[in-house]
Amino acid sequence: MADPLKIDSHVHIYETREIGRAEKTGYEVWEYGELAGVRASTLDGTVDELLESMVSAGISRAVIVNLYTTAEIRSQAIATLEPGLTASRREKAIADIEARMADEMRQFNLWACGVGRQHPELAIFIATDPLLAPDEAGAILVSELHESHGAHGVKLHGPAQGCMMSDRRLWATYRTCEERGLPIIAHAGPDQQGIGYSDPPAFVDMLRDFPRLKVVVAHLGGASWRQTLEVAEAFPNAYFDCCEIIDWTGSPNGPSEMELARLIRDIGTHRVMMGSDYPWYDLDNTVDRVMELPLLSKEEKERILGANAQSILGL
Ligand SMILES: [Zn+2]
Repeated sequence: MADPLKIDSHVHIYETREIGRAEKTGYEVWEYGELAGVRASTLDGTVDELLESMVSAGISRAVIVNLYTTAEIRSQAIATLEPGLTASRREKAIADIEARMADEMRQFNLWACGVGRQHPELAIFIATDPLLAPDEAGAILVSELHESHGAHGVKLHGPAQGCMMSDRRLWATYRTCEERGLPIIAHAGPDQQGIGYSDPPAFVDMLRDFPRLKVVVAHLGGASWRQTLEVAEAFPNAYFDCCEIIDWTGSPNGPSEMELARLIRDIGTHRVMMGSDYPWYDLDNTVDRVMELPLLSKEEKERILGANAQSILGL
């Protein structure tokens, strides 16, 4: 029999090896607790490394979900402001920082879209942010990057951006995505402050208000995976990827392999996609992990490897 279609629905790329390495060091996976033997990737997240990994794992397409870590960039920039500024000068300085960040986010998206033009096997999901591109500005950004630069969808990361998935300043963006048939892929899981930016219940308002919007709740809810099934049952427009969580089975806050397989089966195996979260984990290892899942049939697992992403994300 022919090899099944394989699509990696969740990867990150960086402009240089140095930037990738810095992002990886700065992003600690804390939510699952301690677990020995997690097979982390040693790669740095360059485009070339990704393309090589795709070839060796037999993966024909990959979905780029680039991350723009607004909350951290913003607070670092604000921390460098002179202490004695008057209130109005400080306000102006913060507005300047935000304008600069909005421009950086745009350049970052344009770079990713350029990579996508060079490598049609990569589908680009762009970053946006409710603070930097609120309301109509977000809708305009998405429309332009879709029409003129080939963006396939939008990526959000609540904890890294310090924003709730239900932030109403994202509603115009969600509406545009729904109208254009562009899916949203959003990080899901707990945040260190316990605010609930992207726990599965934070997705309820957007799923309800935009019933034709396809929303990928990434990592099957991560360490908040026990809250995932209820949201999946209430909203058929919620979809999932199993990246990261699949490497943390058996951890204190993660599911066992059997619990993970049962969750996927209860949600519906056609709604879950394989993702590696490269460069945190390796593509070939991720394929093996999916095929090793208990409980699911070979056909179901093969659809998770690629066919599901093709139909869910319209690739
Ligand atoms: Zn990711």
